[in-house]
Amino acid sequence: MTRLKFNVGSIAGILIALGAASAQAEGAGPGQQGAHVHGIGHLNVAAEGSSVVVELIAAAAGLIGFERAPRSDAERETFNLAKENLMAGDAMIRFNTEAGCRLETAEVDADFAQAGQAHAHDQGSHDGGDAHGDFHVSYRFECERPDELGSAALGLFAGFPALERVLVHYVTAEGQGGAELTPRQAVMSFVPL
Ligand SMILES: [Zn+2]
Repeated sequence: MTRLKFNVGSIAGILIALGAASAQAEGAGPGQQGAHVHGIGHLNVAAEGSSVVVELIAAAAGLIGFERAPRSDAERETFNLAKENLMAGDAMIRFNTEAGCRLETAEVDADFAQAGQAHAHDQGSHDGGDAHGDFHVSYRFECERPDELGSAALGLFAGFPALERVLVHYVTAEGQGGAELTPRQAVMSFVPL
């Protein structure tokens, strides 16, 4: 149940292409936006004109520690806090200040049933124990000086300590490339391959 929402059609095409490339690299099946591996996130960054669209897909286990709708008050609190953190896109990813990028929109979706819809699938086919779920996050930034766009620092790791690695693919006016970021190496430069 993959749900993706994009504001900019042409950039969405690029991101889907990147997602396919990333899925291939991870050995995932067709139609997957990157393999579902706990602790690993996939981040696509697409700069076009003054806009930068960022998409993050990560296993819910790496962000909130469970992969189903929250059941207890404590889980609901964890879930809501995670969403709140993720909505603060300019804390999750920071571009070099010279580019003057500002967060314009943020969307956070979890692809398991939300609290309150928890009884939506009473099929009896699952006990819920082995289900998986992903977070889909998308941001749009507007940059005053897109020509100056040169690097990005991930704040994600600070908010989500179970997240071990983020595989980044990017497309800028200069070209495209990739990077593997970790809590110890959370800054990347947009250096085309
Ligand atoms: Zn999982």
